[in-house]
Amino acid sequence: MHVAFNRPYLTGEETKFIEEAVNVKKQLSGNGFFTKECHNFLKTKYGFKHCLLTSSCTDALEMASILTNVGPGDEIIIPSFTFVSSANPFVLRGAKIVFADSDKQFPNISLKEIKRLKTSKTKVIVVVHYAGLGYEIDKIADYCKENNIYLVEDAAQSINTYFKDKPLGSFGDLSTFSFHETKNIISGEGGLLVINNKEMMKRAEIIWEKGTNRAAFYRGEVNKYGWVDIGSSFLPSELTSAFLYAQLRHIEDILGKRKNIWEYYDQNIDKKAMQKAGVNFMEIPEHSTNNYHIFYFCCKDIHQRDILLQFLKEKSIIAVFHYLSLHKSEFFSMNNEVEELKIADEFSDCLVRLPLFPSMTQEEIEYVVTNVNYFFNNKAEQK
Ligand SMILES: *Cc1c(COP(=O)(O)O)cnc(C)c1O
Repeated sequence: MHVAFNRPYLTGEETKFIEEAVNVKKQLSGNGFFTKECHNFLKTKYGFKHCLLTSSCTDALEMASILTNVGPGDEIIIPSFTFVSSANPFVLRGAKIVFADSDKQFPNISLKEIKRLKTSKTKVIVVVHYAGLGYEIDKIADYCKENNIYLVEDAAQSINTYFKDKPLGSFGDLSTFSFHETKNIISGEGGLLVINNKEMMKRAEIIWEKGTNRAAFYRGEVNKYGWVDIGSSFLPSELTSAFLYAQLRHIEDILGKRKNIWEYYDQNIDKKAMQKAGVNFMEIPEHSTNNYHIFYFCCKDIHQRDILLQFLKEKSIIAVFHYLSLHKSEFFSMNNEVEELKIADEFSDCLVRLPLFPSMTQEEIEYVVTNVNYFFNNKAEQK
C-alpha cells in the first residue's frame, strides 16, 4: 500500500461551476459572479466585514504589507516557525523583520514573547495560527490596540476555527487565508484578504484592482476609472473562484471527514509507547476549536524523527516535517544578526505531520497507525 501525504479533494461541483462561468456567466477575468458569491458566503458564515479573494495567501499578505504602510525603519514581529510568505511581503517593502520564538507548548507565539520584542518602532505584528489553532489571540489583539500596532493574522491554515466563539480571521486589522491545494479548502492556488479595519476597506479594493478605482466604477460610484494609488493584480480569475465556491458550499462535509481521521489518529496511536520514547503530543490551546488541518507530534530529537520518517518511507507512507525556522535561513542569516530561538528550532527539528486528507480510506488510516505504533514499540530508543 502507498499512502500519499495529501490528495486534493473534489466535491464534484467544481467542474459544474467552472462550466457555468465559461458558458453561462461568460466572464473569465476576476470580480465576477463567483468571486462575489464567495465573498457573500464568507461574510455571511463568519461575519467578516469585508472580503477580497486573492490569487494566494502570499498575495493577501503583500496587500497587508501595503495597507499597513510599512517601510524602512519599521519593525515587524513575525514567528520564526512559519512559512516564508509570512515574512517576504514585509521584506519587499523594506521593513526590518524581528523573529519571535514559539511558545513552549504550541508552535504559535505568545503575548509574553511579543512583549519581549516590542520596541517603539514595532508597526505590525503577524500572528500565525499554526495547525489552524488560535492561541492568546484575544489578548494579543487587545495589546496591539493599546499600543497602536497593526495586527495581521496569517490565518492561512485556520478556515472555520473559532476562538471564544469568534472565528479566527476576525481579530486582526487584516487577516489572510490560503486555498492552496494543501489546505483544508482549496482552489489550486488561492487566497483571501479579510479587512476588519474600516479605514483600510476602500484602499484595499483599489490595491486589489491594480491601483485603480475600477471596482467603484463598476458599482456606478464614479463615472470613469483611473490610476489612484499603488497596487497590483491580486484578484483571482472567475475560474478559480468557481472552483472555490464549490468547496466552500461543502465546507462542513470536508471538515467532518478530516475530523474523523484526526480523531482516529488521536485515539489509536500508542501514546504510552510514544511517551516512553520521549514524544510530545499536539495539544489544542484553551478557547480554540480544532479545524483538523494538521495532525502532528514532536519526536524526542532530530535523530529519532529522521529514523521515523525513513521507516515510514520504507513502508511507502509519506509523512513530512516543516518548517525550517526562518531566523536561521540562508537569506535572513546572511543579512542579519541572528538571535537564538531555541523553541522554534526544536519544533523545526522534531515535528512530524501524518498524512491527513478527506479521501483517505480506512485502510490507509489504519496502515499509518499500525506502522507508527510498530516503530515506537520496536524501533525507537526509550528515553
Ligand atoms: C500555506 C501558507 C502560506 C502560503 O499560502 P499560499 O496560498 O500558498 O500563498 C502562508 N502562511 C502559512 C502559515 C501557510 O501555511
